[in-house]
Amino acid sequence: MQSLALPVPIPTTLPFNLPSRKRMLLRALLLRCPHCGGKGIFETVFTLKKQCPTCGLRTQRGEDDYFVGAYLFNLCMVEAILWVGAFSCIALTYPDTPWTLLTWVTGILMIVGCFACYPFAKTTWLAVDLSIRPLTKEELEWHSEDGAFGDRVLSHI
Ligand SMILES: [Zn+2]
Repeated sequence: MQSLALPVPIPTTLPFNLPSRKRMLLRALLLRCPHCGGKGIFETVFTLKKQCPTCGLRTQRGEDDYFVGAYLFNLCMVEAILWVGAFSCIALTYPDTPWTLLTWVTGILMIVGCFACYPFAKTTWLAVDLSIRPLTKEELEWHSEDGAFGDRVLSHI
């Protein structure tokens, strides 16, 4: 089990502003914190830090199974790549569509796409969640404290 201790104290003196949905989505697509736009929210290519180093937002917002939504987004992104790629190829080459080549290329695209889209799926899901359940100042303060996930009742549960 991972430690819930925070690596560095997060400044709580930042002004609390709720960005627009469009801005949060754009920040997520740039792999930045959807809330503040801060850089460096990834520990590794596939792992988010526990908190945004700029604003202190917990990237899992207090839920253990939080990134099931990110997995769903990743699946949707990869499926979109598959469908757009396959139908574009068919539309451009019909009736002489190279079916064997199309099968191999789309298969490879799906495998590569799973890894390539995963970081974007995580930040995009966080942005969508922040749009659905807007962050409150109280929640952000809780994120900045060293509280355990179980010591807070979330309003949406
Ligand atoms: Zn942030």
